[in-house]
Amino acid sequence: MSFDADVIIVGGGLSGLSAGITAVREGLNVILLERGEYSGAKNLSGGRMYVHSLLKLIPDALDKAPFERPITKETFEFFCENKKLSFSLEEKDKKNSFSVLRSKFDRWLAGEAENLGLLISYSTLVTDAHREGNGITLETNRGALKAPLVIDASGVTSVVFRYLGLRNFSPSKWMLGVKEIVKTDIKMNDNEGEVRTIVGTIKGVKGGGFVYTNKDSLSVGMAVTFDSLPKSEYPAKDLVEGFREKLGIDGEILEYSAHAIPYYGYKNLPSIYTDNLIAVGDSAGFLINDGFTIRGMDLAIASGMIAGLSAKKIKDNGYKTEIYYDMLKESFILKHLELAYNRFELMNKAYTLNSYPEILCNVLSDMFTVSENRNTLIDDAILRLKEKGISLTQAINDMWRMLK
Ligand SMILES: Cc1cc2nc3c(=O)[nH]c(=O)nc-3n(C[C@H](O)[C@H](O)[C@H](O)COP(=O)(O)OP(=O)(O)OC[C@H]3O[C@@H](n4cnc5c(N)ncnc54)[C@H](O)[C@@H]3O)c2cc1C
Repeated sequence: MSFDADVIIVGGGLSGLSAGITAVREGLNVILLERGEYSGAKNLSGGRMYVHSLLKLIPDALDKAPFERPITKETFEFFCENKKLSFSLEEKDKKNSFSVLRSKFDRWLAGEAENLGLLISYSTLVTDAHREGNGITLETNRGALKAPLVIDASGVTSVVFRYLGLRNFSPSKWMLGVKEIVKTDIKMNDNEGEVRTIVGTIKGVKGGGFVYTNKDSLSVGMAVTFDSLPKSEYPAKDLVEGFREKLGIDGEILEYSAHAIPYYGYKNLPSIYTDNLIAVGDSAGFLINDGFTIRGMDLAIASGMIAGLSAKKIKDNGYKTEIYYDMLKESFILKHLELAYNRFELMNKAYTLNSYPEILCNVLSDMFTVSENRNTLIDDAILRLKEKGISLTQAINDMWRMLK
């Protein structure tokens, strides 16, 4: 059977482009299929990229990538009824992460990939997939293509795995991400940027919100579990608007988007490889949301690079796709997902995001309230925990899991 390429990649987001760049550098004949008119046209991200993976892919990216701002200030905000607790950490000159706008960023990365010789077919929608001979045939709106190895980089919906009957739509394993880009006057120097992580603004939902500072706009959004949406004080379509209003952010809305975010957790990851097929980025469920950070982009780039490297080895070793999984195990990706699992489980408990911020707000409020009745801090904490039905042992256990 003749094939159209050594490797076909489905999806031209960060994971697909990184896989394509690396596979081309390995000397493979690669075709990438992207349904959008350009890379970035269909991508959504709240937009804070940790750049360690990107710098391995494009070592001079700090000089040429279209970043918005370096993140030099982290702010956490907890809304509890009529109280709000916030704290910030500022680190001048820090260049570990940057705000990005994906429509610009992915388009730039696609340009880099094309300059290296990657063949990208835009406006090409993969509509079906089946096994044929020793490979996979992909049906698209522009005809069929066959390859002995396919990389599914199509994001959370993992279309190739689904078309082959290997996955279902699984909203219980996804979060809903909603985001607006709001034009505002940013009063910061160009070498500064802030990320605000916010819990407790919208009643009922399990999840949190974020505000990222871009050059001259804000990315404002929320990530919440699908199962908590029926309990939300706002319907899903008004969630981000309600959130923005509660924060008092005003300005022209330049863009609104909604997208699913994988939320499997390390112990429930979906199948990542099978014969002739491997998954990268969101398609593989590589997303860390541990309460401190949302990380999908660095994992998408790193898994794409590993897929590109492994593709050559897979080709040279009789198409054994487990080579990809073995290489993943050696990388930071599965290790970081495992490290984040304790916090992932903790955040999944119904009481965590609702009760603990309120307890903390109340204990601090008691500290700053003077009357004839006054407790020690520990007695007050026990009292406030008890009000929420949480024992001190339980709280210490949860704290331990948070730190582990
Ligand atoms: C609201 C929100 C906020 C987020 N915030 C952050 C953050 O601050 N930091 C961070 O690191 N991560 C964040 N993420 C996660 C991050 O955006 C993803 O992890 C990352 O985009 C995954 O990249 P990917 O290339 O695997 O998938 P995607 O970016 O989803 O790319 C998939 C590509 O496949 C294409 N495609 C899909 N189906 C087909 C088809 N049938 N045929 C052809 N092409 C197809 C799509 O058009 C798209 O270009 C956020 C996500 C959301 C939704």
